Amino acid sequence: MKIVRYQTNGEAPYLPEKAVYGWMLDDKVGEIQGDIFGEYRRREAKIPVGELKLAAPCVPSKILCVGRNYVEHAKELGNEVPKVPLIFLKPPSSIISNGEHIVLPPQSSQVEHEAELVVVIGKRGRNITTENAKEYVFGYTIGNDITARDLQKSDGQWTRAKGFDTFCSFGPWIDTEFDASDAVVTCRVNGQMRQMASTRDMVFNINTLIAFISSVMTLEPGDVIFTGTPSGVGELKNGDMVDVEIEGLGKLSNPVKI
Ligand code: ZN
Repeated sequence: MKIVRYQTNGEAPYLPEKAVYGWMLDDKVGEIQGDIFGEYRRREAKIPVGELKLAAPCVPSKILCVGRNYVEHAKELGNEVPKVPLIFLKPPSSIISNGEHIVLPPQSSQVEHEAELVVVIGKRGRNITTENAKEYVFGYTIGNDITARDLQKSDGQWTRAKGFDTFCSFGPWIDTEFDASDAVVTCRVNGQMRQMASTRDMVFNINTLIAFISSVMTLEPGDVIFTGTPSGVGELKNGDMVDVEIEGLGKLSNPVKI
């Protein structure tokens, strides 16, 4: 099933403007009532997706990211491949959805794209084993871990470089049936190919990442894990269009502005 969140327009019956969960059948969306991670009911899918403003497809309490999880990417930045997963956090305030602008901050002169497969957690877990990790996966989505590369180098700590508003794009939907074992992740800027690799090339696979992260902190439903980026990261300029595509999953597009 494909899960989306979309904005209601605030019309009758006295709906406030807010985002609600929906499910997609072909290009039609139906509302999901209840808890998508628990008991819910799907209404008929009849709203054309083109008429909706889609929000990021879940509301994470934590955005986990994995650094240097593809060998070629670690090398291109002159880094060693880590011995254990290298994890960091992005703030929920950095989230944007498909189609929204990435805003280049004045503090950086080198903002880069990072195309990534994103895991969405479906139930609370702590000290999850690699054997049980799959039970905690709700589904998968497409992500762009936007990074101020110059500040990442100069700060040492990555909070600023990774944490600007608009620096976390994911969506447009969550696919609960996606097979993540060997999917090609690509990134194009203005139509030109920049990144391409299979998820098979990850240093630490998804089960290992879930086990590792949950040995540190409790994972909650809706939390997301950005699983690292392949080589080919590069600069984004004002006016660019960046498309991250994952084979069998879909495409996430964001324009860039100052
Ligand atoms: Zn990344």
